[in-house]
Amino acid sequence: MSSALIDGFGRKIDYLRLSVTDRCDFRCIYCMAEDMTFLPRQRILTLEEIHRCAELFVANGVRKIRLTGGEPLTRKGIVGLCENISAIPGLNELVMTTNGSQLTKYAQPLADAGVKRLNISLDSLCPEKFKAMTRVGDLQQVLNGIQAARQAGFKRLKINSVIIQGHNDDEILALTDYAIENQLDITFIEEMPLGHVGRSRDTSLFSSDQVRDNIAERYTLLDSTENSGGPARYMRLKDHSATRIGFISPHSNNFCSTCNRVRITVEGKLLLCLGNEDSLDLLALLRRYPLSDEPVLANIHRALNNKPEKHHFSSDGDVQIVRFMNATGG
Ligand code: SAM
Ligand code: SF4
Repeated sequence: MSSALIDGFGRKIDYLRLSVTDRCDFRCIYCMAEDMTFLPRQRILTLEEIHRCAELFVANGVRKIRLTGGEPLTRKGIVGLCENISAIPGLNELVMTTNGSQLTKYAQPLADAGVKRLNISLDSLCPEKFKAMTRVGDLQQVLNGIQAARQAGFKRLKINSVIIQGHNDDEILALTDYAIENQLDITFIEEMPLGHVGRSRDTSLFSSDQVRDNIAERYTLLDSTENSGGPARYMRLKDHSATRIGFISPHSNNFCSTCNRVRITVEGKLLLCLGNEDSLDLLALLRRYPLSDEPVLANIHRALNNKPEKHHFSSDGDVQIVRFMNATGG
């Protein structure tokens, strides 16, 4: 049973972001509240159900899967899950987004399990600020993790940095220098208003244009037509060809017209759009039809018809989406 996943606006869905946990060993100030309650085990997808989702979507045209969370490396059995998903016929690329805290242990096993690329979050190179932004994280552990990923042979490693005014907007050049020195790509992300994180986001938005102006003080940025199939716009740096600079700008640049992705949260909700609450309860369907994919797929097709044309985040930092990023699968 196979049929391409096309939404109501003719966009073909070939990219699935799968959240494998809502838990995390960090508490980043833009992602979570300090005091979080996590989902009980019976309300989350089992590893087998996650694998079944992956198979179902790959059989219907998905070519790239990103595992995310929460922190994917906190999920027990993650390496075996990667092995199983990367072996699904038809999948071109299994990739992961991680905070890097456990990569010294996991980089090689992930590479061996068929994970092709890693995005690693890094918002600061100053140990105190890093701790303040993650509330608990240890910078050195993450830097060691990045080196472990390089040694494990990962190509095109990418750093993700969320820039927040008054917290790390003075580190844009340092982060860029670090990316260049280590031949990494780096993407700067505007903060999205997902969930009540216990601080006001009113005055903290730092736009991609501001980031670009800051980088231009030291480097010559060159326009690029490169596209990773995602929301990031890329630029190159004159004299530093090994590093691409990406910008994810949900506030200032609407990337919805070419959106090719859907998300499955660890609760089994199929989310059609990051900036929208509409979802399909896949967990219920998977458990109602344990042996037959057909009714599950029929519901997915129906839901896709409702994928919104575009999202809109207002720039005043108001929370319009009550779920947190860790529960969304950022
Ligand atoms: N724990 C992993 C990590 O931090 O890389 C994976 C999950 S995390 C939710 C995925 C990405 O979402 C990270 O790069 C993180 O910086 C980003 N993120 C989290 N909350 C965000 C927010 N409110 N706005 C923009 N990006 C956010
Ligand atoms: Fe954890 Fe990633 Fe959210 Fe930070 S951004 S709290 S590392 S899930």
